[in-house]
Amino acid sequence: MITTAPYLLVALPVPLRRLFHYLAPSPMPVAGSRVRVTFAGRALVGIVIASTDQCDFDANKIKPIDALIDSQPLLPAQLLEFIRWAADYYHAPLGEALQAALPAALRQGSAAELKNDPSSQLWELTEEGQGLPSGALKRSRRQAELIEKLQQTGVYRWSELKAEGFSREALRALADKKLIRPAREVTSFRGEPPLTLNPEQQCALDAIGLETFGIYLLDGTTGSGKTEVYLQAIARALANDPQAQALVLVPEIGLTPQTLARFRRRFGPSVCAVHSALNDTERLNNWLGASRGDARVIIGTRSAIFTPLANPALIIVDEEHDGSFKQQDGFRYSARDLAAVRAQKLNIPLVLGTATPSLEALHNARTSRYQHLRLTRRATANPTAPIEVIDSQSVKEHQGLTPEALSAIEQHIGAGNQALVFLNRRGFAPVLQCRDCGHQLNCPHCDAKLTLHRNPYHLHCHHCDFQRPPAKRCESCQSPRLEPLGAGTERSEEYLCQRFPNTPVIRIDRDSTRNKGSLDALIDKVHEGEPCILVGTQMLAKGHHFPKVTLVIILDIDSGLFSADFRGPERMGQLITQVAGRAGRAEQAGQVLLQSQHGDHPLLQLLLNQGYGHFAQALLDERELTLMPPLVFLALLRADAPNPGAAMAFLQTARELAETLPSEHQIQILGPLPALMEKRGQRFRYLLQFKALSRRGLSIYIGQLISLLDQQKITRDTRWAIDIDPQEMS
Ligand code: ADP
Ligand code: ZN
Ligand code: ZN
Repeated sequence: MITTAPYLLVALPVPLRRLFHYLAPSPMPVAGSRVRVTFAGRALVGIVIASTDQCDFDANKIKPIDALIDSQPLLPAQLLEFIRWAADYYHAPLGEALQAALPAALRQGSAAELKNDPSSQLWELTEEGQGLPSGALKRSRRQAELIEKLQQTGVYRWSELKAEGFSREALRALADKKLIRPAREVTSFRGEPPLTLNPEQQCALDAIGLETFGIYLLDGTTGSGKTEVYLQAIARALANDPQAQALVLVPEIGLTPQTLARFRRRFGPSVCAVHSALNDTERLNNWLGASRGDARVIIGTRSAIFTPLANPALIIVDEEHDGSFKQQDGFRYSARDLAAVRAQKLNIPLVLGTATPSLEALHNARTSRYQHLRLTRRATANPTAPIEVIDSQSVKEHQGLTPEALSAIEQHIGAGNQALVFLNRRGFAPVLQCRDCGHQLNCPHCDAKLTLHRNPYHLHCHHCDFQRPPAKRCESCQSPRLEPLGAGTERSEEYLCQRFPNTPVIRIDRDSTRNKGSLDALIDKVHEGEPCILVGTQMLAKGHHFPKVTLVIILDIDSGLFSADFRGPERMGQLITQVAGRAGRAEQAGQVLLQSQHGDHPLLQLLLNQGYGHFAQALLDERELTLMPPLVFLALLRADAPNPGAAMAFLQTARELAETLPSEHQIQILGPLPALMEKRGQRFRYLLQFKALSRRGLSIYIGQLISLLDQQKITRDTRWAIDIDPQEMS
């Protein structure tokens, strides 16, 4: 006999856009609890979404769950609702969205309990430690420094002490001497006092209403003190309510250890950083800490938008324009856009900060959906330096550097300062070419050239990671005369080392920072303040504060002017402005030189003469004329396959199906078109673009299209995906 007990609807981590029926146990699990189930012969961890007595297939085939994992719901109702919203909006399977939201340990079914983790242990001084006369630990400098640190701050977490270079031995030794002891509470923490805000900062801070939902675009020049405004907004929220929590999203924590350090100095051990260097236990503990309200300030990258919060009061997205907030595969969500949704659901404010607002943010400010707060001046002594153009077309270059650029470097390091050379291309040379027949070496798997690397010596595809030893002879004509064309960071580094033999050259790119801790070491070296030349990629553009850098040289951004991606010019303007903003941030004034073969290009002229604000406005006007985002809404249907015909045929069918849908939403279809890189990693890639005037209309339409596509038979190797609000056409 079939029981009258209802069924459970369970979300499973499988790429199917539906929920799965299981027999409900007694008592009934609450929505948001995890269950173990068997699915297609595999044991999976699923999340209970709802119960139902509806079932439109053979009820006898519905299996019981294997076990209930959580007696309390793991996901609070509000968070579950938010993730469901996100999965709906991006047309992603709910199970996959939930997977993105949970730390690995919880995904795999570990108990939702804090695990013992020595690195999260708090330490404080004992009475003896507090009364310790200075100089008492003369013979062990690190121990003395550790005591001093605790005297300043009151209490500190072991993981952070470790990050500041203190050893386990020093900690043990002090504990054995009964000078320090484990602490239970963070309340005794003494933070660094806030800075006195300048009038613009004060105005911005006062404008942020902490009581209700509102979105604030904090549009402040590089170095204008946005971070100080964040810190004080958080301090206010915490002062209003001692239980309050703030969530801060940043592009990449590893790239800006100084920002994290500033939050720590201000808020101490109640700051919880969620980043990729954490192990599973640390991630689990952080997640639970945020969920229980122990962590007050949670700083994390993209996926931290799904952190459970017991008592949320404020969300901040720093460098709102940064592309890393958009996930580019699997569950393709934008953490920045979801931050707005989450803030609204929670009825709390969202602050979006940047020196180079995205056109989306500017459009929302222009239409009064966001309140536009401006910081127009640097908080420190020097204004942002104007950008001077060096025409690199007519002069002889030395490995990509003009004589003018070289003499500027000489001058600045001669004055005891540091110079930064920005070149967004790693490796030695982007092309290896035959001198006799002009043949260039391509990646066998992609529509891309192979980059020559010197250290180690090899050819490398930056798109699919294919690697091979450099050929001795031309593949095409057997000539031995192969020549590296153009310069990447390795080549510039090599040249600058020869040219300035007495000045250290520090290269910062993905290759030089691959090993754990290597980026921190390089950044520390820059902070020592001795004259040096920094050479690096866009890793250098991200929010760094290098006080001794007075000269910035920007090489080779011309490709942004002629990009096939409609966002190309916007990104170029952001990158130039951000890199230029590294110059002259402290006592000394800065100088910025931009080498270009197209210095008179109207867009570049607009950016250099009138600044990013006017430049962005012009781009926005152009998007209005050409009907592109943010004035309209886009979705892409992407398909790829090892065989170009298969992916193309799938999109052709998709287009035909789309054309059968009701026309009420006035969707414009474009394609199928090849992606900007048609072949990548042995797969041929195509797009079908949908454009609509209404976000909601587009969403309904895409939902209908997906149900049709789900019924299509496709060749086994063809993959397809929907990308809502795509950021890249590549
Ligand atoms: P942004 O986040 O806008 O790039 P930061 O907050 O990092 O700017 O500030 C840049 C520099 O200015 C930092 O060294 C910071 O300590 C300093 N600063 C910020 N606000 C003030 C202020 N009100 N008074 C003095 N210095 C400030
Ligand atoms: Zn040849
Ligand atoms: Zn490749």
